[in-house]
Amino acid sequence: MTSPQQPQPWQWDEPTWRGHVERIRAGRSLRPSSWPGGARVAVALSFDSDHETPTLRDGEVLPGKLSQGEYGARVGVPRILRLLDRYAAPSTFFVPAVSALLHEGEVKSYVDNGHEVALHGWIHERNTLLDEQSERDLTVRAADTLEQLAGVRPVGIRTPSWDFSLSTLRIIRELGLRYDSSLMADDEPYELLADGEPTGVVELPVEWIRDDAPYFMMDRHTALRPYTPPRGVLSIWRDEFDLARAEGGLFQLTMHPHVIGHRSRIAVLTELLDHIAASSDVWFATHAQIVDHVLADGGIS
Ligand SMILES: [Zn+2]
Repeated sequence: MTSPQQPQPWQWDEPTWRGHVERIRAGRSLRPSSWPGGARVAVALSFDSDHETPTLRDGEVLPGKLSQGEYGARVGVPRILRLLDRYAAPSTFFVPAVSALLHEGEVKSYVDNGHEVALHGWIHERNTLLDEQSERDLTVRAADTLEQLAGVRPVGIRTPSWDFSLSTLRIIRELGLRYDSSLMADDEPYELLADGEPTGVVELPVEWIRDDAPYFMMDRHTALRPYTPPRGVLSIWRDEFDLARAEGGLFQLTMHPHVIGHRSRIAVLTELLDHIAASSDVWFATHAQIVDHVLADGGIS
């Protein structure tokens, strides 16, 4: 942010504009020379089990909106787990700690079904509204809570709302996390740079195109209805997968149990998984498994 006393962006000198861009930036590509088992494409499905937490984070405490999130835990998660089991598709669940505490046994059930549990904040807080110490305290508390409930210490993070602050990478490194999945500089995995220096932290990039929320969510009290028919979303995601396969790369998808878990949308996710599984050269993997592989492979260059 700039104030009238500070130089405006068009008045910045080169070290200033270059410094902003280089603070946290994409480094070397970690697209591997090959995927395990001779697979042509890696499929990284992820589910952000937010449930009631974005509503609570906004200070909304009335039952209507909370029930919309509760649906995710009560109906969405069991449907998703059955589907992933059918396709033998290990996936990653990013879970705010408060969500894990509200729904006893849920994160343990993810681990017991062969999936990964990873960090997604304490109460889906917005990191860019916090000071560094608050962000650190909440992230550490969330990691301790997930470890206690899931029996495994998380190795990765997705910042809630993909709200990556200027402190987030420092905190990721302090906690010894292996990867982040909140940034968007590539389709393929890459290493994060901090002020031009390699960090060893892997980015598994996301995109709004490969997220269910912007297509399906709406705000009851505004005229905005950014609603895409489920089969329109299927068509976009199928193209994303087909091109990822043609390029020998990564297909990563972000979904939410309270969004994708509804019948008309689970139907579409099932069709997508049918389409993916029709190729015999697909590697379904958790985000952590993909990070292990790309680091061991060393990349194409
Ligand atoms: Zn979320």
